[in-house]
Amino acid sequence: MKNVRKIVLAGAATAVLALTACGQEGSPETGGGGSTSGETPAAAPTYAVATGVTLEGSPTFEKITSAGKVTIGVKADQPGIGQKDAGSGEYAGFDIEMAKLMAAKLGLSPDKIEFVETVSANREPFLQQGTVDMVIASYTINDKRKEVVDFAGPYYVAGQDLLVRADESEITGPDTLAGKKVCSVEGSTPATRIRDEYPDADLVTFDAYSKCVEQLTSNAVDAVTTDDAILRGYAAQQPDALKVVGAPFSEEPYGIGLPKGDTVMRNALNDAIETAVTDGDWKKAYDYTLGGSGTDPEPPTVDRY
Ligand code: GLU
Repeated sequence: MKNVRKIVLAGAATAVLALTACGQEGSPETGGGGSTSGETPAAAPTYAVATGVTLEGSPTFEKITSAGKVTIGVKADQPGIGQKDAGSGEYAGFDIEMAKLMAAKLGLSPDKIEFVETVSANREPFLQQGTVDMVIASYTINDKRKEVVDFAGPYYVAGQDLLVRADESEITGPDTLAGKKVCSVEGSTPATRIRDEYPDADLVTFDAYSKCVEQLTSNAVDAVTTDDAILRGYAAQQPDALKVVGAPFSEEPYGIGLPKGDTVMRNALNDAIETAVTDGDWKKAYDYTLGGSGTDPEPPTVDRY
């Protein structure tokens, strides 16, 4: 994945469909993007809902059209990325904004999105079995996953990092993990990387990162590892107890997972991401959610493989 951090917008975007962004404004009802800095979040962004969208030859679009809604797999326990409010049941975070943005470009207002909770290990099966139409869930694009699913994007590039207790001084990067209990999630790229490249670390896995964070605060493990964007959200919830090491040691380009072979939908979502970058919607979504964590990345270039 070369040049993912550079803004190089493809001039001649594949014209598979006319994404007319002149429709009515969508009004995402989910407030509180989960600005992880504790600052008051700006008003919830809205995205223009396209009209007259036709995606001939896309089985996913056909399914969405006949259902009258799009079903999107998201995370539910990752503040700033994808988090479900225990009280209201509403989802918030950057992935949720991306979901609303993609839905809007396909002609669907936010009330036509059904969010389905996913964990790292069931994202490919959910796409393969048709449980969801797409997955927007801190989902790293890689060749192994591309054997069974397809990806639009990336729409963001994270990096693997470490979350430790605030008083930790020995763990400063992946090379300091030998003999340490390190928690991650089964089916994730960070867990695989620890297993393959840092075999002296004592890897413990759960199905969700929030469980790892509980293990860390109860002293059952010494570190949690996954993407920095996810870890920053947890650290911001308990700033006196937790800190992110801040030395990322991988690139994790986040893609929108799609059923394998739906090139028409993949091209359409790649177009939609590029448009969102140029028209400011990407920035609105970022500022409302991850932007509070003190980072200001360039939007990545989509990879039209
Ligand atoms: N981005 C990594 C992955 O897709 C880690 C985050 C996650 O597990 O959702 O495996």
